[in-house]
Amino acid sequence: MELTNEKNIDRTVGRRTVGRRTALVSGASIAGLSTAFWLNRLGYKVTVIEIANEPRTAGAAIDLRGDTVEIAKRMGIYEQLKSERLHVDLIEFKNADDVTEGSVLLNEENSEDTDDGIEIERDKFLGIIFERLKNDVEFIFNNSITSLKETEDNIQVKFKIGPQRSFDLVFGCDGIHSVVRKIWFGHEAEYSYFLEAYFSITIVNKLLIKQKTMQMFNVPDKAITLNAYNGKTDIIFCFYSEKEIPYDYRDTEQQRKIILEQFAGQNWRTSELLKEVQDSKTFYFDKFCQIKMPSWTKGRVALVGDAGYCASPAAGMGASLSMNGAAALADALEKHNGNFNLAFQDYNKNLRPFIEEVQATAELNVRENFIPRTEEAIRKRNTEGFRIFFSDRHESLSYWRKILRASHRKDGVGSDR
Ligand SMILES: Cc1cc2nc3c(=O)[nH]c(=O)nc-3n(C[C@H](O)[C@H](O)[C@H](O)COP(=O)(O)OP(=O)(O)OC[C@H]3O[C@@H](n4cnc5c(N)ncnc54)[C@H](O)[C@@H]3O)c2cc1C
Repeated sequence: MELTNEKNIDRTVGRRTVGRRTALVSGASIAGLSTAFWLNRLGYKVTVIEIANEPRTAGAAIDLRGDTVEIAKRMGIYEQLKSERLHVDLIEFKNADDVTEGSVLLNEENSEDTDDGIEIERDKFLGIIFERLKNDVEFIFNNSITSLKETEDNIQVKFKIGPQRSFDLVFGCDGIHSVVRKIWFGHEAEYSYFLEAYFSITIVNKLLIKQKTMQMFNVPDKAITLNAYNGKTDIIFCFYSEKEIPYDYRDTEQQRKIILEQFAGQNWRTSELLKEVQDSKTFYFDKFCQIKMPSWTKGRVALVGDAGYCASPAAGMGASLSMNGAAALADALEKHNGNFNLAFQDYNKNLRPFIEEVQATAELNVRENFIPRTEEAIRKRNTEGFRIFFSDRHESLSYWRKILRASHRKDGVGSDR
């Protein structure tokens, strides 16, 4: 795909023929920076607005799988990402006495790196894209869109701080609680689909288990996962909840309390890990939920990433969906030479089968793999490995295939269906 600056710019927007087309991107995380990257390459004059005071770099390791690797190559960031790549070699399922009941070997020692995926720390990934963009794209931090009004020629945007501005297109890349979605498409409750579980992630700067390994401990309806890499450990708590728990998603102390109460008195290393959660500065909490929308676009506005089609962390595909979505949009805009109506139609149509498949996989993962609801189901998961849910259509699900192959290798039995 040829994406040089001048050549591909169609300078007509509606009836206007002036200057470069302009785009406003709300959110400077994976979807936002990826979208800004492609729009900038297509020749748009891009502004990114972010509510935090810098790109939100906290968070655990993320996975880029299958098609996303190809996209990273097209973006010219693959080699850089690869140099920061992490490896999980072994997943162990622990019981209350810290005995390993089963394990899944993902990488043999000294095995060659393959090109079917990269695991990388979230902040490293964001840093790599941000570095590429910071001189070409306008970044506005500590600010947020407050209203949108579409006219025939553009879309007028009001902000919390500063004067109104107009843009040709607006992209909502502002995550699961997207303000663009709320303002332009309707309230979150209309599109949010609760997966009956919550999770928290705390990252500590020490190894609580052996590097490059992951450990899981479950009791019915609750799960604790440790993931160790680069001298750090992610501590992940997940629990089942039939009903949604009311909480303020900006109040981390309240969220921390929910986790402390949910897991108080549990076995294994729980009390030690809760102490880490209590003392740690990094804490990310959310419900497992998905965003399902009949259309991700309306007029001059499009949603990308979690804002439009969050599959939940249970998919292990949040970053991949964001990068795939941003690239699909860019391809559609390029194909239709900037005619956003046609481009947005393509985007909605072409990306949808992939999103639906990943969302279906994630839903099953929560129930069957991460938070089994009975002792019997836990034992089965521990001894037989993960159950894998996928069809063969999408390479991006190759990560799960790899785990399946690993399960086969260990036990000689398949666990897919
Ligand atoms: C701080 C943080 C830590 C995370 N850690 C993990 C993790 O450890 N594991 C995991 O699976 N997923 C994590 N996620 C979610 C994960 O990044 C996403 O599921 C996925 O990568 C999709 O990315 P996204 O860009 O669509 O959404 P997000 O990564 O959620 O990014 C949304 C961005 O929009 C910004 N934003 C929100 N509201 C506004 C507003 N009103 N105006 C402007 N900007 C706004 C946010 O600050 C954020 O930068 C984390 C997200 C955040 C924000």
